[in-house]
Amino acid sequence: MRLNESVIQSHRDLLYCTLQEQSDDSSGEEAAGDTNMDFLRNLFSSTLGIGSPDKVLDELTLEGVARYIKSGKCKNILCMVGAGISTSAGIPDFRSPGIGLYANLQKYNLPYPEAIFQIDYFKKHPEPFFALAKELYPGQFKPTVCHYFMRLLKDKGLLRRCYSQNIDTLERVAGLEGDDLIEAHGTFYTSHCVSFCCRKEYSLDWMKDKLFSDDIPRCDKCNSLVKPDIVFFGESLPVRFFTSMKMDFPRCDLLIIMGTSLQVQPFAGLVGRYESFLLLLITDSVDPLLGLLGFGGGMDFDSDKAYRDVAHISTCDDGCLALADLLGWKAELEELVKREHAKIDSQDKSSESKGAAAKASSASVAPEPRKEE
Ligand SMILES: [Zn+2]
Repeated sequence: MRLNESVIQSHRDLLYCTLQEQSDDSSGEEAAGDTNMDFLRNLFSSTLGIGSPDKVLDELTLEGVARYIKSGKCKNILCMVGAGISTSAGIPDFRSPGIGLYANLQKYNLPYPEAIFQIDYFKKHPEPFFALAKELYPGQFKPTVCHYFMRLLKDKGLLRRCYSQNIDTLERVAGLEGDDLIEAHGTFYTSHCVSFCCRKEYSLDWMKDKLFSDDIPRCDKCNSLVKPDIVFFGESLPVRFFTSMKMDFPRCDLLIIMGTSLQVQPFAGLVGRYESFLLLLITDSVDPLLGLLGFGGGMDFDSDKAYRDVAHISTCDDGCLALADLLGWKAELEELVKREHAKIDSQDKSSESKGAAAKASSASVAPEPRKEE
């Protein structure tokens, strides 16, 4: 039995090497490689039993997932998260056209809403983006139950990594940092001069000063614009996203997807590419689910062949609380949220009193942001 397992493991490793080599150009067009890869994957998974018995749930429910985590066989959990995990913190899903923040930006006469994140438009008209950046400035929102659930996974040594589509930095505020986190769409945490010849780096504090004094941030070396390191349309994703993905997905035991409809590439492509892990989708929106079922998103929740994918229909916070409850962690999670939120509140209070003077002189572009200094 043991020997057999190790043979299978080495075949799996070989397979993954092959797949990874094939997907080396995964940053963009991958159509050509996909057919070959699917063929190889199916061949190996049927002959070698990938999706091995120790990774098949006794029941495709949240309870089944909880039992699997508690069994000790689940050592590497990946989380893949999107805007839906931050909406309960008050951050709208502002990448979706036609809602909330875009409407507030009408005064800038954007040719179309997405222009605000278009790199070429930004270089000519940076004002709308910086107005939005001020409004969404990190530090004005508190992480959610869902963010702290991931922190708990980390504290318990179960979180291999969190892949986030969000740029609100709430994962960092919740205590995920460095290796814990891949910010696939970049981060506000650092900024760079947009000039290719210069690329001088600027800190969060520097950017904050500029935003809240309503200055357009310009490089003090070359006077080009300085942009937070979030990924605009027309820019490539961070290299770390691709290198980590190749290491993480083959070794993943459980992938938890929360708050994303997986319609944004390359996230969407990841789920179908690897099959050796279990998948839990927590969503309160059934539409994307139907989309995934209908358009081959790589998940299978309810067909006769379903064996690994679990969908839990609820808000991300409720889903995490329910899972924490089943794991016996509910009190711990609630305590963590309470303690961390109290810490943020006390920091806000002390910075509000210091920032009161500055607040009075701020010309408001966006609806009254909380001042911090
Ligand atoms: Zn510069």
